[in-house]
Amino acid sequence: MKKNIRLFQPYIGKEELEQIKDSFDKTWIGLGNKVSILEENFKEYFNEPDGECIALNSATAALHLALNVYDFPKGSEVLIPNITFVSTSHAVLYNGLKPVFVDVEEETFQMSVSDLEKKITKKTVAIIPVHFGGHYCDMNAIMRLAKKKKLKVIEDCANCLGGKYDNKYLGTIGDIGCFSFEEKKNMTSGDGGLIFTKDKSLVVKLNKLRWVGINKDTWKRIKSQNSKDEDPYHWYYEVDVLGYKYNMNDLSACIAIEQLKKLDKMNNIRENLISYYLEKLGKSEFYKPTFPYDLNNSGYWLFSLRVKDKNNLINHLKKNGIATGVHFMPNTLHPLYHEYDKNDTPISYNHWEEILTLPLHCYLENEDVDYIATTIKSFYEN
Ligand SMILES: *Cc1c(COP(=O)(O)O)cnc(C)c1O
Repeated sequence: MKKNIRLFQPYIGKEELEQIKDSFDKTWIGLGNKVSILEENFKEYFNEPDGECIALNSATAALHLALNVYDFPKGSEVLIPNITFVSTSHAVLYNGLKPVFVDVEEETFQMSVSDLEKKITKKTVAIIPVHFGGHYCDMNAIMRLAKKKKLKVIEDCANCLGGKYDNKYLGTIGDIGCFSFEEKKNMTSGDGGLIFTKDKSLVVKLNKLRWVGINKDTWKRIKSQNSKDEDPYHWYYEVDVLGYKYNMNDLSACIAIEQLKKLDKMNNIRENLISYYLEKLGKSEFYKPTFPYDLNNSGYWLFSLRVKDKNNLINHLKKNGIATGVHFMPNTLHPLYHEYDKNDTPISYNHWEEILTLPLHCYLENEDVDYIATTIKSFYEN
């Protein structure tokens, strides 16, 4: 039988459908109680009593608002790794800021701290470390540097939800953490995102920014001024910032509420599959793992190899029913970012063409991994 092994596959079932049915029964599917429940559940999950969560319609929106909330002067510089999804870079441009691309470490493919340090100028205002593929950046070094230089740190956690670093959840270490629930990510809500922050001073503004600038607390204030039960001002709100339409809705929140309950299990399944991949593939002169996988309390999203003869391998795997992908091309290779290319990220440029993403999802079985490993090995033996 011809195999058809997908690269990603959302792990969704009747629990998500039951939650959605509840919203249908209540005929409330927009921004409402389910979104609030999801935000509370995430606060509990991160085990950060001082933290606040704001649910959004994507991580792209989260990254946009994370920079927007600080009102940095136009043209200020934001340091981002060159190997990331374009949303990280777009968030900088959306805000009228300037992306400065930082190289990655050859051993980990994560943002290089030594290159980061070199690229800080008087105009730098923030760093966006991306825990690419789910492997952690060197957060101790990045936080130390940020503190010394008074820079904000916005963690792009679209690849690493549930992963820990030094016993803390990734995304709770910097000033703001941005998460994705896009279909392919660690958990999904179809599309969705979330901001986590311990900086309470940002929360009111972030809540306004996600909902076209409407301050939900205004009508409560007006109501308290009208001591009578009748409240002719129930419709009243004020807008004092240029907000966006970035809120999550209750339908997505229903899916996310159930996915969060399964998150640790899903990360665990992926950990076991990665461990089995590494065992079956063994050492080779033709390929090696992209990341030094650290499989404890991890939130890996990708199983990625650095391979020789990538294009022919892709075709060979495709012929054998195995999907592959490439995450990610350096952002400065996209025409939109050519003008920001200083040709100073040599490791990204020299090595990105080797990286290949292999199937990793919760329906994958060990025998699928056996088959994929055998197919890869047979390619190089011929
Ligand atoms: C997927 C991804 C995003 C964007 O997430 P969306 O929820 O689809 O907007 C941002 N950064 C990285 C690194 C990603 O992989």
